[in-house]
Amino acid sequence: MTIGGYFAVVVSVALLICGAAAFVNSRRQTRDYEKLARTSTFHCMRCDSVYTASSKVQSQACPKCGYKNSRLRF
Ligand SMILES: [Zn+2]
Repeated sequence: MTIGGYFAVVVSVALLICGAAAFVNSRRQTRDYEKLARTSTFHCMRCDSVYTASSKVQSQACPKCGYKNSRLRF
């Protein structure tokens, strides 16, 4: 095989790996987002911390100070 041909194969394989990595990464981000969408985000009015809980609950006590906060809506 010529050096040019070898180089073409290396570039093709590298592009293929990058494409596959990007595809896997985007799939993972979608899954992470879906997981996040099933939980509710809470912001503590008292100590300013942000925490999450199951999406079923409408209010959740802050894990740091115990203040009961209602869920954030986006
Ligand atoms: Zn708090």
